[in-house]
Amino acid sequence: VATRVSGPAPIAVAAAEPAVDVVPDAPSPEPDRPALRAEALSRRFGGLVAVDGVDIAVRPGRIVGLIGPNGAGKSTCLSLLAGSLAADAGTVALGDADVTRLPADARARLGMTRTFQLPRLPADLTVLEVATLGAYRRGRSGPLRGLLTPTAAERAGMARAGRDALQLVGIAHLADAPAGTLSTGQQKLLELARALAGAPRVLLADEPAGGLDGDEVARLGVVLRRVAAGGVAVVLVEHEMDLVMDVCDEIVVLSQGRVIGSGSPADVRGNQEVLDAYLGV
Ligand code: ADP
Ligand code: MG
Repeated sequence: VATRVSGPAPIAVAAAEPAVDVVPDAPSPEPDRPALRAEALSRRFGGLVAVDGVDIAVRPGRIVGLIGPNGAGKSTCLSLLAGSLAADAGTVALGDADVTRLPADARARLGMTRTFQLPRLPADLTVLEVATLGAYRRGRSGPLRGLLTPTAAERAGMARAGRDALQLVGIAHLADAPAGTLSTGQQKLLELARALAGAPRVLLADEPAGGLDGDEVARLGVVLRRVAAGGVAVVLVEHEMDLVMDVCDEIVVLSQGRVIGSGSPADVRGNQEVLDAYLGV
């Protein structure tokens, strides 16, 4: 399990449902306005402050890297953004919508998708079926979504989205294999494909390069840039520094839950405090 979720459950706001239904099909926000903006996000676990006043803003088409030593709070940050973990303080907005009090599934319907550090894929489904599941997340619209069985046309559209996503990440040739037979790297790519099949507006990727071989990492870099070029705002948590330096427009460095530096890849590479945070671990 990538992210242990404990403590208070996210605030349940099922009643707020209708407000979010229509938004996924709305036009993308203007490119110069953040698609995702978090301000002063904080979360503690008992006495430990895992995330401490973090600000992150990502415009459409941009990739923001979130880096830092193990235990810095990166995965917790993603959980706070995705809504799978409730923040103790701070706000999260998707475009103009304040989603701070919305649970993860409502945020997902607004176009924010997260991939996990250790994907939990249904092993007995085929690769295509798993990818297609990602399309179901956003494939329906209207107030009765979820109550109605998808029409044949809707199902075909979702399967096409699943297939396109597999193609994009480079594992279309494995479409009919059971997901459980994939290598770790292939599972990570499938996890990404599943997220992309839902046509997210914001992609939160937790160490997508973990377990990938050199060719797969190179492919991942190309895929992430292509996804961003399509207008998606990407938050990339990643240890693989060459990839981070290559694909990110901006990098935010966390240490012990706090932002200790941010800027272009070149800025961050030259930042002594950042280097110390890494060398100190
Ligand atoms: P990173 O992803 O940067 O390695 P995490 O966000 O996973 O860091 O963890 C940040 C800190 O919060 C770590 O000290 C970790 O042990 C702690 N932590 C994370 N999740 C939980 C949890 N569910 N309960 C208690 N402590 C947690
Ligand atoms: Mg982590």
